[in-house]
Amino acid sequence: MPGTKADSRKRSKSKNSNGSRRIWKTPEQRRLERDAPQVIPMYKTEKERRLDEIQKWMDENLPPPETPEWEALCTGCGKCCYDKVWEGDRLLLLTSACPQLDHETNRCRVYAERFDIEPLCLPIGPEIIEMGGLPEDCPYVENYPGYRGPKVVDKSLDEM
Ligand code: SF4
Ligand code: SF4
Repeated sequence: MPGTKADSRKRSKSKNSNGSRRIWKTPEQRRLERDAPQVIPMYKTEKERRLDEIQKWMDENLPPPETPEWEALCTGCGKCCYDKVWEGDRLLLLTSACPQLDHETNRCRVYAERFDIEPLCLPIGPEIIEMGGLPEDCPYVENYPGYRGPKVVDKSLDEM
């Protein structure tokens, strides 16, 4: 008989608020959902985390790159332009230098285009700091906690 309380309860359970019928998932659909590949979070590698830490330290402790304050930190020692080679996990800082280094002034002859001209020339940033490529007395890293720069050796690249 239509209109009983039992019937209206059934109807309210099987319809949603705008009156359309609910669509129930079949067991197969539920199984497919349960077994679907989960999104795997992407974790950063140890090196990526270290580069992030260095970048954070630079942001908090150095002037913004390319500003006059940033450039003024450089003492012009030229040592970051000396050749370096790996010995185990540490760089050696040699007595020979990049061909673009002017030994009279200790300045780069091609500063504006240095990254195009010298593929091994790295900007001062997390990568070169992470590999310990700047000398320990360089003002860009001298206050970096625990920084270990290259080991100075009295040999040129030709002697290695
Ligand atoms: S080692 Fe540091 S201070 Fe020396 S030239 Fe390079 S950036 Fe400048
Ligand atoms: S190209 Fe780079 S490494 Fe070579 S002298 Fe210039 S700044 Fe230094």
